[in-house]
Amino acid sequence: IICSWKKSISNIKDVFEFKGKMGSGSFSEVFMVREKTTGKLYALKCLKKKHLAHSNLENEINVLRRIKHENVVGLEDFYESRTHYYLVMQLVSGGELFDRILDKGVYTEKDASKVIKQVLQAVSYLHENSIVHRDLKPENLLYYNTDENAKIMVSDFGLSKTMEHGVMHTACGTPGYVAPEVLAQKPYSKSVDCWSIGVITYILLSGYPPFFEDNETRLFSKIMRAEYAFHSPFWDDISESAKEFIRNMMEKNPTKRFTTEQALRHPWIAGDTAKDLDIY
Ligand code: ADP
Ligand code: MG
Repeated sequence: IICSWKKSISNIKDVFEFKGKMGSGSFSEVFMVREKTTGKLYALKCLKKKHLAHSNLENEINVLRRIKHENVVGLEDFYESRTHYYLVMQLVSGGELFDRILDKGVYTEKDASKVIKQVLQAVSYLHENSIVHRDLKPENLLYYNTDENAKIMVSDFGLSKTMEHGVMHTACGTPGYVAPEVLAQKPYSKSVDCWSIGVITYILLSGYPPFFEDNETRLFSKIMRAEYAFHSPFWDDISESAKEFIRNMMEKNPTKRFTTEQALRHPWIAGDTAKDLDIY
């Protein structure tokens, strides 16, 4: 097989000028870089090969390269050195979802509904392409630019995996956002992303997470039983339609849970039931 998309290089600094670190995790670092030949700016995700010994990154990359959606951070190119893989991603400059909400001061159900609709459209597209994101959380939702009405972009497919071979089994993701069936180590699928979108909606409307425990065992057991509530007074002025939307997304049984298609048809997203009142 000839891999025309895979570029082997000895030193990534021959291709890109490094501008600054934008983020780092346990397996990767993200830098802002300038491509020397074109002068174009990108976000470069650097992954150490030794952490990825048993993963199937090259197959995943091949799938991600075909992904093109206005609300999904695009993968533009891919390099490999002796020690690293490098993902060249479209650079977005608007910052993370929550940072902006904190700055904004006023926030309405309508604002939240518009954000969630874009996330649903992006994730629906990924699901149509047999990709489950698996790590949907606020840090992975970025604004395209600093405009007030900038679109939201779904990023970080580090944990995504194609599902062409059926259901997936790996337990991963961030505890507060993972679905009950993931923690219960049952087979899981696309529906885990819908649970996470439900959790994100919950936080957008209340300012606090649906599950909070200092003790991880207790946190896991609460999530596994889908034990959450709409506490007074925080939820008193939130519409019944928003709560019904969340109940359908944060449904314990993955076969009864809303799909992205059902979510996109719900009146809180598609209709006019999202209130225009300030939440905080
Ligand atoms: P990790 O696997 O470490 O979570 P991410 O891909 O989420 O890696 O990147 C870490 C951080 O870098 C993000 O939370 C975001 O702030 C920033 N970042 C990632 N991708 C981009 C991008 N395409 N444009 C701008 N900033 C980005
Ligand atoms: Mg991330």
